[in-house]
Amino acid sequence: MTQQFWLVQPLFTGVFFTLGIILFFQLLVRTTLQHYNKQRKRIDKLDFSVGRLKLISIVYFSCLAAYFEYSAARVRAYTAFINFRLLLLIFIVIFLGFLSSFIILLCDDLAHLLFYDFSVETLYHSIFMLVTFLTICLAVYLIRRNNTTAAWIIPAAEGIAVIIWVVVHNVNIYGIGRISLAEMWYNMISFLIMETLLFYGLTTLFQENQQLLTVTRQASIDSLTKLKNYNVFNKEYAQAFIKAHQNNLTFTMLEMDIDRFKNINDHYGHLAGNEVLTQVGMILERVTREIDQAECYRTGGEEFNVILPGLSVNAAYQFASRLQKELEQLSVKYDQDTIKVTVSIGIATLRAYDDDADHLFERTDRMLYLSKGRGRNLVTTDETQL
Ligand code: GH3
Ligand code: MG
Ligand code: MG
Repeated sequence: MTQQFWLVQPLFTGVFFTLGIILFFQLLVRTTLQHYNKQRKRIDKLDFSVGRLKLISIVYFSCLAAYFEYSAARVRAYTAFINFRLLLLIFIVIFLGFLSSFIILLCDDLAHLLFYDFSVETLYHSIFMLVTFLTICLAVYLIRRNNTTAAWIIPAAEGIAVIIWVVVHNVNIYGIGRISLAEMWYNMISFLIMETLLFYGLTTLFQENQQLLTVTRQASIDSLTKLKNYNVFNKEYAQAFIKAHQNNLTFTMLEMDIDRFKNINDHYGHLAGNEVLTQVGMILERVTREIDQAECYRTGGEEFNVILPGLSVNAAYQFASRLQKELEQLSVKYDQDTIKVTVSIGIATLRAYDDDADHLFERTDRMLYLSKGRGRNLVTTDETQL
């Protein structure tokens, strides 16, 4: 199909173009979320006003704005993209926040300057965009402040669009020109259809993204200590084991269990026990983070595992001693009580005869129970015991 025979009505093109914009943005957001997931970074909330999500939103929408400017400049059709500009402006204000949208607006103005040079049109454009931006900000602010349902933005935005198109129809603005009555109606109606679609599309997609984040997090993160849970341990331990086994790499595992934890629960209550677990988890995470490639997990009630790729038994022993020292200094305050804890640790390293991840796991477990049997608050390694 050549351009001359592009038989799709402009409204259809507009609607599907708008949907395409959402779809592509959604792809970028999902890719970013997956990237966060793979890294140690954890995010609970889909927040476009911080970090990488903020950056990709600003770049994405600024590029789009610049493209609209370029396309409109080529044909000198100022009104050609008013609806799209307006749509984008509304949705970046709602979904990305005031600051990010202001940055995008500035990029749009810069692009406009670049493609049109400085002229009366540029001035009109800047004033038009700024006034529209401030009006949209005000509408969004009022809707949020009064806790009105977010869908009210649709009639509010349509109101702004109607005013713009009525003015463009009735006033011959220098550099912009006038549009016919039919064009005015067409633009008003197409704006309403596109904005309704875009609003429901984006709202649904963002809600789904948030649900995806929550579900992924619940399935992999222990809600009490915020450490990775047993499911993730199983998966990551198996992968790390296979990698080390196949490439003859040093690989050590550590298992830690809080001593007489049941007594803490019995003496101070279950909630005090929870607080102890949380603080032990925080210290474990902090100490583990100091070691490259090391990962820690809450694998049971008061049991924790750390995988230490690349660490010898000796280095793992030093890591365990450091951990014990940090935990010795921990005093958990709960109500009037101060609770102290000790831990027992088992360490085992990958050996030639370990042809199964379970072998190493079982040996680490055995070392832990040797520490318990020898009186607790001890570290036992399979180097000394085998
Ligand atoms: P040992 O030194 O031999 O490890 O003794 P212990 O008392 O620590 O071991 P035991 O396995 O007998 O008790 C573990 C207790 O941990 C029992 C269980 O009620 C408690 N526990 C497990 N999960 C949680 C939790 O999420 N919160 C609290 N407060 N307690 C928990
Ligand atoms: Mg215990
Ligand atoms: Mg236990």
